[in-house]
Amino acid sequence: MSIEIKPLELAARGSCPQEFSFGSIFSDHMFTQNYTPEQGWHEALISPFHNLSLSPSAAVLHYSQEIFEGLKAYRTPEGKINLFRPEENFKRFNRSATRMVMPEVAVDFHLDALQQLLMLDHQWVPDQQGSSLYIRPTMIATSPKLGLGASANYCHFIITGPAGSYFSGGLTPIGVYVADKYRRAVKGGVGEAKTGGNYAASLYASEEVAKQGFSQVLWLDAVEGRFIEEVGAMNICFVYEDKRIVTPALSGSILPGITRDSILKLAPAIGYEVSEERLDINQILADIKAGKVTEVFGCGTAAVISPVGKFSFQDQEYVINNNETGEVSKHLYDELTGIQYGTKEDRFGWVKTLEV
Ligand SMILES: *Cc1c(COP(=O)(O)O)cnc(C)c1O
Repeated sequence: MSIEIKPLELAARGSCPQEFSFGSIFSDHMFTQNYTPEQGWHEALISPFHNLSLSPSAAVLHYSQEIFEGLKAYRTPEGKINLFRPEENFKRFNRSATRMVMPEVAVDFHLDALQQLLMLDHQWVPDQQGSSLYIRPTMIATSPKLGLGASANYCHFIITGPAGSYFSGGLTPIGVYVADKYRRAVKGGVGEAKTGGNYAASLYASEEVAKQGFSQVLWLDAVEGRFIEEVGAMNICFVYEDKRIVTPALSGSILPGITRDSILKLAPAIGYEVSEERLDINQILADIKAGKVTEVFGCGTAAVISPVGKFSFQDQEYVINNNETGEVSKHLYDELTGIQYGTKEDRFGWVKTLEV
């Protein structure tokens, strides 16, 4: 299927401002296509960024049948644009779609649509150190009906917007509250899918802990309230004194992050041992106290690596590495961002470079 392009006049196009905050300004154009059971995906279009028009009875607004992805485009020192493992995002998009009874989008087509959008809006990829263009593919259920059941019709769109360096002052450790009252997801539920309801469900706990000065929630499993799952909307890794990096094994209720997967593949190539395990919060906290866990960090596309400086659990505080960024966290951050920005060897062929 070919993509129709209705661009803004050149003179009407914007460009990336010098200052921006994440997720609040958007590039000139967006991609959209629509799905009906009769026509499949059709009306593929790149057009100026605009509001969508939906019936107030659209299924997404009532029953949250929606999925999304998050990836970035990086400006290389030569002025080219790099994507990092985009096929993995589009494959995960389809796994989320299947779980939410939504139609898939062919991975090659999705990539083509994104590349055409980036070609048109390439001046929106910022070049300040640590900045990037955040890309948000989304699918929503649009059938105008309140009756329960999967929607018949869908809209798929891609919007993009500049994202500054997550940490303006370098990698800064965060304080994390271990949730003992609230749960994010349960095995058999939709925690594995990148679907909006998971985030709506986690807002209450996030707001509560923010009031106490913590920036993220550590989620435990919903059955026993004992096994570590994720931190906020990131996966989590623990570094042991023997240079071993341990992360919770995918349990069915953990979002399988692409950053997590990249660390599991990259770390052994740069001198670390890695393992995926079922991690008991009590054991981990004891290991932190005993000085065996030397670093903890969250990992995800937005922050790449986010060091954890302290945990709070049942009124006790556990400080990690003196609340400072550790060398393993920094090493992984430098290696991963180096690959993404095209300044370090891409030994796994993860990067797709667009010539603009
Ligand atoms: C997106 C996301 C992640 C991180 O995934 P990446 O592919 O590394 O960006 C982790 N946990 C949750 C809940 C997420 O939504």
